[in-house]
Amino acid sequence: MVRIKKLYKNFEDSFMTNHSCLACDREVSDDAPYFLCNDCYKSLNRIAGRFLCVRCGDELNGESMICDLCKDKHYSFDSNHSCFYYNDTAASVVKNFKYSGRKYYAKHIAKLMFDNFDGFSKIDKFVYVPISDKKLSSRGFNQADLISKEISKLTGIPVLDALSKDEAKHSQAGLSRTERLKNLAGTFHLKDKVSSELKNKNILIIDDVFTTGTTLSECAKEINRAKPKSVITLTFAKTKLNSLN
Ligand SMILES: [Zn+2]
Ligand SMILES: [Zn+2]
Repeated sequence: MVRIKKLYKNFEDSFMTNHSCLACDREVSDDAPYFLCNDCYKSLNRIAGRFLCVRCGDELNGESMICDLCKDKHYSFDSNHSCFYYNDTAASVVKNFKYSGRKYYAKHIAKLMFDNFDGFSKIDKFVYVPISDKKLSSRGFNQADLISKEISKLTGIPVLDALSKDEAKHSQAGLSRTERLKNLAGTFHLKDKVSSELKNKNILIIDDVFTTGTTLSECAKEINRAKPKSVITLTFAKTKLNSLN
C-alpha cells in the first residue's frame, strides 16, 4: 500500500505539476505565477512594511524597532525574515505541500521566497531545519530541505546538512511558547563534520513557517557552536503577532 502511494506521488510529481493551484487546487494555466490562481496569488499577504521588527521581521507601526513579543525574548539568531503572513492561503500551500507528498511544491515556494527576500548576497551557506527520522520516514521528505535546495539552485549558495533532530517529547502544536521551548530543548544537534564549514561564515537557516521562533532559535543555538560570523533565518510564512496568545 505504501509502495502504491509512493508510486502515485511520483506520478503526480512528474505529470500533474502544471495543473492545480498550490493553495486551492483549482485548475491554473501553465504560466500562472508560482502556480497559484489569481485569487490565491492576490490573497498572499506579503510582510513588507516600512518598519519591521529587527528581530522577528514582523511589521511595526514605527514607534519602536522591536515588537512587543520580541521585547522580552532572546533568540539565538541575529534576525528573521519571513516573506508572507501565515493566512489561510499560505497555510493551504504549506499543508498541501507537507501532507500530500507533492514535492514539486518546493520549487514554487522557493521561487516565492527568492523573489521576496533581498539579503542573499550577504549569505555564504544555507542550513535547513531538520525533522526527526521518524517524521522523515512517515512524510517521505523534509520540506525545509527541499525548499533550501531549490533556493540554492536559484542563488548558487550551497546547502549544508548541518543539523539533526531527535524526536521531541510531544508535538509542538497547541503548546505555549514556554512549553514549546521546554519540549524542544536539546533535540537539535550540530553534526560533527560541518563545524569548519560554518566557522566565520554568514549562515541562513531556512524553514517553512515561523510561529514563535523557538525552533529556529534552537537551531541557531547549535549553529552558533561552530562560531559563524552571523546567523539569520528565512521562512516562507510567519504567524501574525496578534494571532498568538
Ligand atoms: Zn487558488
Ligand atoms: Zn519581533
